[in-house]
Amino acid sequence: MVNLAISLIIILSVFISSPVWADENSNFDEQLAHIDNIRSSQPKLFLVLINELNQQSNNLSSTQRYHLDYLNIYLLTYQGNLTEAISSSKNLINSNADALLKFRAKRVLINIFAANQNWSEGLSTLSRMLAELTLIKDKEAQLQGFLLAAIFYNQLEQYSLALSYAKQVESQSDQGRDQCIAKAEIIKASFQLKQLTPTDPIINHAISLCRINKEQLIISFINSFVAEMHLENHQQYKALQILNSSLQDTLNTKYPRIIAKYHALLAHAHWINKNAELTKQLALKALDNENNEGTAIVKVLSYQLLFKVAESQKDFELALLYHQKYAIADKLYYDEIQTKHLAFQLAEHKSIEQQNKINLLNEKNSLLTTEQALIRANVENTRLILMVLALTLAVLVFWGYRLLRAHKRIKELAEYDALTGAFNRGHFIDVANNALKYCQSAKQELSLIMFDLDHFKNVNDTYGHACGDWALKAAVDACKSMGRHNDIFTRLGGEEFCILLTSCDSQAALKRAEACRKAIAAIITTDSGFDFTITASFGVTDDKISGYDLEKLLADADSATYVSKHTGRNKVTLFQPEKQGKLPLV
Ligand code: GH3
Ligand code: MG
Ligand code: MG
Repeated sequence: MVNLAISLIIILSVFISSPVWADENSNFDEQLAHIDNIRSSQPKLFLVLINELNQQSNNLSSTQRYHLDYLNIYLLTYQGNLTEAISSSKNLINSNADALLKFRAKRVLINIFAANQNWSEGLSTLSRMLAELTLIKDKEAQLQGFLLAAIFYNQLEQYSLALSYAKQVESQSDQGRDQCIAKAEIIKASFQLKQLTPTDPIINHAISLCRINKEQLIISFINSFVAEMHLENHQQYKALQILNSSLQDTLNTKYPRIIAKYHALLAHAHWINKNAELTKQLALKALDNENNEGTAIVKVLSYQLLFKVAESQKDFELALLYHQKYAIADKLYYDEIQTKHLAFQLAEHKSIEQQNKINLLNEKNSLLTTEQALIRANVENTRLILMVLALTLAVLVFWGYRLLRAHKRIKELAEYDALTGAFNRGHFIDVANNALKYCQSAKQELSLIMFDLDHFKNVNDTYGHACGDWALKAAVDACKSMGRHNDIFTRLGGEEFCILLTSCDSQAALKRAEACRKAIAAIITTDSGFDFTITASFGVTDDKISGYDLEKLLADADSATYVSKHTGRNKVTLFQPEKQGKLPLV
């Protein structure tokens, strides 16, 4: 467990960056930022400072408290208390802490799961972390997320995924240390995918970058892959040269796994070189250094080599023993691989399930959207129908109005004289007969005035027809202005007019005729463009004189007009039956 904790701290210190939590005014903020910064580079000082700060934790704000919680999680992993570190990380992830801090806590958690080989929890935390990466605005923190994904997937033997994440960091990061780790992960993934050769330029590039950043552990890992490639190619001398030249630096890292791997690979190289004694020594060293916590593959290789050495030395009892250990290690190794693959497949299955659920929800959503679109379309249709109806109504109203006007016009044409606006003869006959019938039955008085313009032919002949028309209209207007609105005023033809007056006796009719005569005579004609005089001769009768017969009334009024004409014109004459016959013919 101690080894595991140390290895975990090494991994953490390698790729967890240290953002500065800036609030210059606050002493606590400064202390927290400082502790955060030195946590991996100065572990002893870190222990002292974090303990000091924990003593004063009562005075911290909630933001500062969360930051301290995070640093305490780091402390727990450093002390190897992984169970508590896991539960504290989960608490922080579920708290109201800042998104970036939660993100960092998730990264610690993923590392712990990877170190514990708890792949399924590691994978689910990783996928959540990757999904949340978009919420993290800090570009460097995002790249740390990708880098962790690359490391995790490489450990899980999902090399293609690891390669894509590592390449993203390699292409985007400008941090030397990130570049060193990203390249190392690319080398590991490409090596496992058999896409790497020992002469690939990325190897030297990565080693020089890691050297600048003092990442010896990573350099040793890179060298181990190169050595493995040489061994695969039966280039044991090259492998030996690389391993031996960097052995001391690798031993200085004190990281048991890489030291064990170096010894196992050296043993393998010496075996190819047919040096049984050295093979045996180094294989035993590999197993010893492993302290029973080494990677399974190192154990497999070491026991296999020990078996071969014992067999070659004809120590069959020992050979059998190593073979048995080899077989157990081999089984464990394949079990480990299977566990990893199974965890990955299960996680994939879960994400497919989740995707299916999301698809289902999306389908429901699209159904709802379609429904809404349908409702919207219906509303739109109803609006359209209403618009069409309104339009149709407007057209109908318009045409109705036009028809009404046309009808009115036709009626006017049928009933009125177009020039003067008086009733025409035909309409007068109808209206007058009705009025006569009514007055007769109601025993009401009734008079008829008839008039004819004097020497009108002269007007036409002297001033033209247009002027004659003007005079006709002016005479009618002048006469109408003297009467009532409901008088039955008629143009009988040419320049001959009559007015049927209901509830009016001959005396009133005479006065009315006289008023008309004067009004006509008073017409100022200059508006026509000429200066002349208009006069008219009037004849009047009533029911008492002529009865209720229209023809008789018209004939008697006409006779009276005739009298006016022949007694000097421009005058009014009441029809007198006994005198009519005595009038001289002019
Ligand atoms: P009198 O005093 O005897 O009635 O003489 P007069 O010239 O008025 O009578 P006459 O019947 O000889 O002439 C009537 C004229 O009225 C003939 C015609 O040219 C004219 N007249 C009839 N209808 C119209 C019309 O609509 N417009 C015009 N400008 N003249 C009309
Ligand atoms: Mg006439
Ligand atoms: Mg006339």
